[in-house]
Formats: sequence, C-alpha cells, structure tokens
Amino acid sequence: MNEQGSKCPNCRSDIGLWPVIKAPLPNMMRCPHCNTKIKYEKTGWKIPLLCAISYLVIIYLVLSSATFLDAISFLKMAIIVMTSCVILWQPFEFALALYLRKNQKLIINKTANN
Ligand SMILES: [Zn+2]
Repeated sequence: MNEQGSKCPNCRSDIGLWPVIKAPLPNMMRCPHCNTKIKYEKTGWKIPLLCAISYLVIIYLVLSSATFLDAISFLKMAIIVMTSCVILWQPFEFALALYLRKNQKLIINKTANN
C-alpha cells in the first residue's frame, strides 16, 4: 500500500481523509496532528477535471429539472439548488481524496504563506 499519500511528511502520522476533503484545493491542506502545511506533490489534472466535468453535468441536470420549481419562490429554489450543489459534490470530493491518498505523495508545502 502506498503510505506516501496518507502520512504527513513531517510527523509520519496518517492525516486521514478529512483534511483532504476539507481543503478547497489539494495544495491547501494542514496535518491534523502537527499543523504543518502539506500538499500533494503532483495532483495531476485528469482525475480532478473528470470529476469537475461530471459534476457540472449533474448540476446542469439538476438545474434543468428544477425549472418546474418556478411555482415556488425564488428563495426556496435558490436554497434547493445550492444545497444540491454542495451535496452532489461530496461523492466526488470523497473519491478524489481516496484517489490522492492512494496514488500521490504528500510533501511539506514550503511555498504557502503563513
Ligand atoms: Zn504532521
């Protein structure tokens, strides 16, 4: 098993899935144990791009099916759309985190500002 993608390069503890899921980008993570800024050496672009495209397709489908909601207020519709956008991204985020842990290597992020 590849441990380079799951263990902090500073304290060698397993960072778990949550810091990867929580980070807005895979290069903006912190080790939950020693708080060192870490990132994936190479995130690649194919898998994240594939996720983003599939996600956009799903959002489009949700939005187009949401037009029947015209009858209800704009605010309710905005809430429904925003909630589904957030919820629908979770499986992708989870899959990406698993992919990165398995295939990529964690390094200390020296370029990040503190
Ligand atoms: Zn650490």
